Amino acid sequence: MANILAVVNQKGGVGKTTTSVNLSAFLAREGKPTLLIDIDPQGNATSGIGVSSESIKSTIYDVIAHKTHPTSAISLTPVRGLHIIPSTEDLAGAEVELVNFPRREFRLKEALFQIFENYNYIVIDCPPSLGLLTVNALTAASKVIIPVQCEYYALEGLGNLLKTLTLIRNSLNPDLKIEGALLTMHDKRLKISHRVLEEVRENFPGPVFETIIPRSVRLAEAPSFGKSIFSYDIFSTGARAYKNLAKEVIESGR
Ligand code: ATP
Ligand code: MG
Repeated sequence: MANILAVVNQKGGVGKTTTSVNLSAFLAREGKPTLLIDIDPQGNATSGIGVSSESIKSTIYDVIAHKTHPTSAISLTPVRGLHIIPSTEDLAGAEVELVNFPRREFRLKEALFQIFENYNYIVIDCPPSLGLLTVNALTAASKVIIPVQCEYYALEGLGNLLKTLTLIRNSLNPDLKIEGALLTMHDKRLKISHRVLEEVRENFPGPVFETIIPRSVRLAEAPSFGKSIFSYDIFSTGARAYKNLAKEVIESGR
């Protein structure tokens, strides 16, 4: 049965997609069959892993809104052992459509029941909101990874996110756990990076990953070539960091 990890933070641009793509790519490289689910209408994980919109037949929208069988929405990726259920912008309408659906919070969970024994890991890249798509991800997930950007206002909104997690635990998914907060875009030359690191380590009410993701141009460039950092530049600091993150995730699951 797969470990289902939701990568979540309603704050935009904190490294959710970069983390989802590179973590799942490394898990697959380690021989763990992995499914990446892009549940963000922006479709950044889809293009970032090298799946072009022309090649897509069905998407996560079809799975959630039309109950399309998830196997027919799975696409292969350039990474061996990594599959994806892609997203396109039609998913933007789902947030509104879903409101009137029965068991609207469970649509993703029920879909994943049908395939989760085929994978060791399922990684869900969430949109920057706490709307119904994210609620579907949190209801389906066993654990969450929370990227926190080492920037001003980094901790703003974390309280709301933690409150949401509590609400989800109380009503929809009692077993939901925090796998860890993940510091991203850390620049060791900047005081602010150190301050955010200290604050999160002292005050975050849950585990914080040992691994810190550095700010790295190579990580920012890779998606424009449709490549994970391991195909784009395996010797970069970013590749090393995401490799370490994947190892932490694998070890914590034992
Ligand atoms: P959104 O909320 O819009 O979905 P996100 O949380 O998924 O955003 P990303 O898309 O992963 O965030 O990252 C935001 C931007 O920062 C992207 O341009 C990405 O390439 C860049 N980026 C992410 N991580 C790093 C890093 N460690 N070093 C340098 N650039 C990074
Ligand atoms: Mg994103």
